[in-house]
Amino acid sequence: MKRADLVFIPTPGMGHLASTLAFAKHLLDRDDRFSITVLVMNAAFAPTDHSLVQSIAASDTRVRFIHLPQVDPPPKELFFKSVEKFITEYVESYRSHVKEAIINHVLSASLPLAGLVVDLFCSSMIDVAYELGVPSYVFFTANAAFFGFMLYLPTRHDQVGIEFRETDPESAIPSYVNPLPPGALPSLALNKEGGYISFVNHGRKYKEADGIIINTFSELESHAVSSFFNDGIPPVYTVGPMIDLNGKTPSGNNQAKHEIMKWLDDQPPSSVVFLCFGSRGSFGEPQLKETALGLERSGHRFLWSVRLPSRDDGLARPTDAENLEETLPPGFLERTRGIGMICGWAPQVEVLAHKAIGGFVSHCGWNSILESLWHGVPIATWPLYAEQQTNAFQMVRDLGLAVELKINYRLGSGVLVMAEEIENAVKCLMEGDSKVRKRVKEMSEKSRQAVIEGGSSYASIGRLIEAMMANVTVPARK
Ligand code: UDP
Repeated sequence: MKRADLVFIPTPGMGHLASTLAFAKHLLDRDDRFSITVLVMNAAFAPTDHSLVQSIAASDTRVRFIHLPQVDPPPKELFFKSVEKFITEYVESYRSHVKEAIINHVLSASLPLAGLVVDLFCSSMIDVAYELGVPSYVFFTANAAFFGFMLYLPTRHDQVGIEFRETDPESAIPSYVNPLPPGALPSLALNKEGGYISFVNHGRKYKEADGIIINTFSELESHAVSSFFNDGIPPVYTVGPMIDLNGKTPSGNNQAKHEIMKWLDDQPPSSVVFLCFGSRGSFGEPQLKETALGLERSGHRFLWSVRLPSRDDGLARPTDAENLEETLPPGFLERTRGIGMICGWAPQVEVLAHKAIGGFVSHCGWNSILESLWHGVPIATWPLYAEQQTNAFQMVRDLGLAVELKINYRLGSGVLVMAEEIENAVKCLMEGDSKVRKRVKEMSEKSRQAVIEGGSSYASIGRLIEAMMANVTVPARK
């Protein structure tokens, strides 16, 4: 039997690592001809959280992890000017370590190398694959529409040569149904400090890959997917939703998790709105106060993951909140006792799976969207950073799969989302059998169908495996 190794190169960070590892495991379950090596980079500043890697390493010996050495991160100032450029440069500085690890630990083994599977920030590793004479595949952890946005960037740049501006007219981007207003563009598109240009370069580089693997399913993003049938775009494989349904994603401390699930067990079906804002979402006191008032006035039960900005302006991950009596409106905790629960890092997938959850106020990270669709929970959109504004726009305007709380909000903009806006969005999300809820339930069914035998993503993974194996040459017997 022809067997082969694949090397996965994820970017550090939960939103990237979890879906990449879910996909790696899925490939192994699907086809035992593969063995997989994952090259693990450290986090740039915060102590690296290896818990996800450790829990997979302990439970699945088929995945081999190689921890790469620590490299010096770019200067901190760059992080504050452009997170995207910072991450891009940080990843680039791993190039020689990646190449060395592959030469010393993968190419020296008996299995041929079927290719490198590189994260969306790791487009510089496409050159490493080229130097090693093996194919490269981009594993795109964001969605197909945003992949289309990245392809559009270099085309537009060649025409206008400058980043987007807040005053620009709407942009007609083929992967979105409706033209995107500037407020729905990701901050990187407006960034003059290297964020924009580093994404132009990533978008250009993707075209040199042998395939693009996207964590989405064609029923959800049919418009975006059909926009890729063009010359010069590598084959696109929609393989999602790839989500960590087995709870390998770190879920905070066990005691807290137990209390959350117990509290949910005592709530009526579909009665609780869940608020959670991803691995980097956090708010200062004024916003927390507005949110508390909005929630209280909505009259709905809530589970609210409250996290505070780290003291170093966002270099480290946000911290779980303490002493909330002093931060939230006077008497709020007392008045909402029994109706609401506040937690820190939440076991999000398990929470979304609970029958008590009726709606989700989300920052619209792509993993969060896929997880909520999977469990049929409608979202009210409150984007914060990365490509979340385009995700919110797509979910509300293009797909009719979410309720609009905000689309153009940007974390750090100093703008407050007022209690009244939160109250109205929560009521709209939670009350009645809305059109959005019905559409989300239908999409939930389709997401589950997509990954089982006969489904669109199942078939697409089959084509990907064929393409990967076709490139493998079996070494001659000695
Ligand atoms: N997550 C979680 N608990 C939290 C916050 C986030 O389990 O309190 C998980 C969430 O389920 C998702 C991931 O962390 O799988 C966040 O990924 P996403 O793409 O939604 O957002 P990002 O963190 O990349 O902005």
